[in-house]
Parts: sequence; structure tokens; C-alpha cells
Amino acid sequence: MKTLRDIQIRFIGAGNMATSLISGLLNKGLNTAQIKATNPNYNQREYIRKQFNIQVFDDNNEHFGWPDVVVMAVKPQVMKTALTEIRENIHHTQAVVVSVAAGITTTQIQEWLHEPSAIIRTMPNTPAAIGQGAIGMFANNRVSTAQRSQCEQIMDAVGTSVWVTQESDMDIVTALSGSGPAYFFKFIQALQKAAEDLGLSTQNARLLTRQTAVGAALLAERSDRPITELIEQVTSPQGTTHAALTRLNDLHLDDVVRQAVTAAWQRSAELS
Ligand code: NAD
Repeated sequence: MKTLRDIQIRFIGAGNMATSLISGLLNKGLNTAQIKATNPNYNQREYIRKQFNIQVFDDNNEHFGWPDVVVMAVKPQVMKTALTEIRENIHHTQAVVVSVAAGITTTQIQEWLHEPSAIIRTMPNTPAAIGQGAIGMFANNRVSTAQRSQCEQIMDAVGTSVWVTQESDMDIVTALSGSGPAYFFKFIQALQKAAEDLGLSTQNARLLTRQTAVGAALLAERSDRPITELIEQVTSPQGTTHAALTRLNDLHLDDVVRQAVTAAWQRSAELS
């Protein structure tokens, strides 16, 4: 079975997400000769070439070679055109197609490829840019065990990945971890503003809010205690945290979050 160190990867649409993945893979020790990328945009190509010293092409079929994995990292609206362009080469090489495009199903990709193909749909999120992504993945029934393992290793270069067994779960993944960073940013923003409104300087409110978010996230990750216990650790009876949590409960925070995530989930299902 080929490992990550032996495979060839071709990125179609070397933009933000592909840049994060390429950076993560090279940091993991992949050789620059293992990765090729394409982008019609000259400036973007030059940036990728200088940044990573890999081969970057204008034409999606140029020097196609024999990639084991083709990562489709174009915007969803460009997916059909890009897949149509390269489908002959995909069929020749039997490469597994890994899509990072939001809302594009494996069935749609299959239709655009015309022939039965191994397809993996993934949903990364923006913290992938700093190696802290949370990624959901779904494989169609033509994907081999080796291809699953290769995709997993590619995604683990930019974070932590999980498989879902039914594709409809990708809408939940989208609502949870795909959109999730924005929920936490929104909370950070609201927390900082509340402290500023009470009179703390912007500089101090900003620093303390962000460090509290980082500290809480790391503690939640590293501690083996359930979240309920971590909450209890901060909360003394009739103390300050208790006062705040009582207010959040009175305002039905859990229900607000459930409604927000459900709205994202419904929108994701509508779009795919
Ligand atoms: P991006 O615009 O940075 O990158 C896409 C690149 O594709 C652009 O540089 C563009 O020049 C290039 N391109 C356009 N037409 C092309 C074609 N025909 N062939 C090859 N390349 C072409 O976008 P991004 O943020 O990297 O997003 C890419 C995909 O990743 C999207 O489908 C998006 O849904 C998905 N995604 C992104 C994130 C994220 O955090 N950025 C998160 C989850 C999913």
C-alpha cells in the first residue's frame, strides 16, 4: 500500500485552501516533487511557486502525469468546468478525486466525471490555515482502503479529520465545524464588546478575551474531564460565573445555539 511519502498529489485550483494543505503536507516532510498544482491566475501561480518551490501550471491538464490523488480545491461554481476539463486524465490514471468544495455532492461529481470514479468529499474549515482544521470526510463506494488512508493523511496535515458513513451527515459537519469558527469568533467579539462597554480599554479587553478563548479551548482539548466538570471548576455557588451562567440559562443560550446550527444545517442541505 502506498503511503503519503510515496504518492503524487495534484491540486486543481491552488488558492487559500490548497495553500493550507500544501503547506501542511510539506511541513509533514513530503517532497516538493510529490506535489503539483494548477491555477489560471498568474499572480497566484507565482506566489505558490515562490512559497513552496513546487511545479504550478496554468492548464489543468498540463504535465498531468500519474497522480494518486487529485484534490479539487476550486470554488463550487467552477467545479463542473474544472472536472469536465480533466476527466479523461482522471479516468486514465484512476486517481481518487478529493473535493474540498462546500455543498457539492459525490453524486454531482460523479455525473460531471461521466464514468464511475473513486470520490471523497471533504469539509475543512478556516483554522486549517494554521494546521488546526476540523475536517469531515465522506467516501463513495469506489474508494479503496488505501485511498481512504491517503486522504486521511492529507487532511491530518492541516488538522483533525473524521469519516462520516452517510453523505447527508456532511450537512451536519458543515453546520458544526465548517461554519463553527464563525460562531466562536462571534462569541469572542461579543465578549470583548461587553468588557469594553463596562469600561475596560480595548487593548486589554482584546487581549484578555482572546487568551481566555485560547486557554479554554486548549483546556477543553487537553483535559479528560467532561465539559460540565470544567464549567463547575470555574463556578462557585452564588459567585460571579454562577451569576453569568444563570443569565445565559434564563436567555436559553442552548436553544439559541441549537436554532443557529439547525439554520446552517438546513441551508447546507438546500445548497447541496
Ligand atoms: P480560492 O478562491 O482562494 O481558491 C480557488 C482558486 O481556484 C483561485 O485561486 C482561482 O484562481 C482558481 N481557479 C479558478 N478557476 C479555476 C479553474 N478552472 N481551474 C483551476 N483553478 C481555478 O478559494 P478557497 O477559499 O481556497 O476555496 C476553495 C474551495 O475550498 C471552495 O470550494 C470552498 O468551498 C472550499 N473550502 C474552503 C474553505 C476555506 O476555509 N477557505 C473551507 C472549507 C471549504
